[in-house]
Amino acid sequence: MNRISHWIDGKVVESTSGNSAPVYDPASGEQTATVDLASVDEVDAAVAAATAAFPEWRSTSLSKRAEVMFRMRELVDANRKEIASLLTAEHGKVLSDSLGEVARGLENIEFACGIPQLIKGEYSEQAATGIDVYSIRQPLGVVAGITPFNFPAMVPMWMFANALACGNTFVLKPSEKDPSVTMFLAELLATAGLPDGCFNIVQGDKVAVDRILHHDDVAAVSFVGSTPIAKYIYETGTANGKRVQALGGAKNHMLVLNDADVAMAADAAVGAAFGSAGERCMAISVVLAAEGIADELVSKIAQRIPDIKVGAGNEPGNEMGPLITAESRDRVTGYIDGAPGEGATIVVDGRENLPADGYFVNPTLLDNLTTDMACYTDEIFGPVLGVMRVSGYQEGIDTINANPYANGTAIFTRDGGAARQFQFDVQVGMVGVNVPVPVPVSYYSFGGWKASLFGDTHMYGPEGINFYTRGKVVTSRWPDPATSSVDLGFPETR
Ligand code: NAD
Repeated sequence: MNRISHWIDGKVVESTSGNSAPVYDPASGEQTATVDLASVDEVDAAVAAATAAFPEWRSTSLSKRAEVMFRMRELVDANRKEIASLLTAEHGKVLSDSLGEVARGLENIEFACGIPQLIKGEYSEQAATGIDVYSIRQPLGVVAGITPFNFPAMVPMWMFANALACGNTFVLKPSEKDPSVTMFLAELLATAGLPDGCFNIVQGDKVAVDRILHHDDVAAVSFVGSTPIAKYIYETGTANGKRVQALGGAKNHMLVLNDADVAMAADAAVGAAFGSAGERCMAISVVLAAEGIADELVSKIAQRIPDIKVGAGNEPGNEMGPLITAESRDRVTGYIDGAPGEGATIVVDGRENLPADGYFVNPTLLDNLTTDMACYTDEIFGPVLGVMRVSGYQEGIDTINANPYANGTAIFTRDGGAARQFQFDVQVGMVGVNVPVPVPVSYYSFGGWKASLFGDTHMYGPEGINFYTRGKVVTSRWPDPATSSVDLGFPETR
């Protein structure tokens, strides 16, 4: 049985904690590996390696740090297929989707290649007579990342690319459900020339997470995962004096107005709801259908569902894979079981015709949702799309703004004025106009509002650079000794 261990100080380190967890191939349900679960001492060893590596790495020139990122960019590019197949084997998503994940992760490494430009400060000559003022941004020290199962390559790349480029050293705690891909990324970083100790991985569970949150030498924590854990990470990390950004769960609405292109909206809803089996924090899980087009839209979505090819992610041609675990599958089917009792209509039932093995649920379409149903209030995180019928724009926007989650949303319309009003009104962090999954490109920043993000700073892009650095302002004078005198007044500039 394959064993997945830690990566500390530039090498694989096997755990002696005696604790491990199984890793499965979700398409077959077979266990393929065990993953070590770190003890407190093992987390301490990773943080110690990162602490020891920090002084030299932060002193390394910007050009050299950029050079490591450029080399990493080439290595990830050359190994896209290898990374994608590792990812599919443990996550289950289809290969084309895994390749898409790698591509979007790679964009963050490409962004970080520009670190000499990104980290520039400002300079004011002659702020007062003979006095110049300038700002610089410096790394924080050891920073940690705690990542979810659903993007095991991309989300770590969201974090470590900018963190390392800014001069920090890094400790990653990946999801224990699909940990292999990050070990491969660690090897690539070493090949790219990143010094030992700058990037470390501790495999683990709550024990490892809690040690990170309480460790005095960890300056900041980036987290992506579910809302209850995000809230816990934010509260515990900040109570311990750390800078924390904690991205949580989602319930993303797509509002389709009467003037929308209904066929295009149906295509978009199907892709956004069932891509990656709905296990995306930016998946569309609710369509708000204006009453004039609702029947047509439901029928067009239902017509498209039987064409989706469901099966093992590594078999060419399949478009949707299994869920991550048996528990996930059972949780998702539980919501479908409960929907009719709450008054929803099952239009397409994904509990039927399932493969004999693996953790599959087929694409499911529910209609007539109301805001009090569990299948509406909860993040299902599976291939279940619900339709709620609304009278029009106002009921649609009110519904979205009343929801506690606020990660992504989209409007489908041909009316530019309505789209502009939506962008103005909607209380959600990432907005699509006729774009169902509006994940920002790497040179913007990613983050929701409300229960979808705890902390002030969004992830990656310019806000990522801010998160992984802190500002310092220098006021400087190189005086003519002849002008020097004692002055007890408050410094004035005029
Ligand atoms: P999760 O919250 O269960 O786990 C995330 C991380 O936290 C993992 O590394 C896990 O080991 C750790 N963890 C789990 N339970 C913990 C506990 N009790 N104490 C301390 N640490 C704990 O999330 P998941 O199931 O891996 O991922 C799916 C969730 O992530 C969904 O809710 C999804 O919406 C969300 N997500 C959000 C974004 C975003 O950008 N907002 C992106 C991807 C995923």
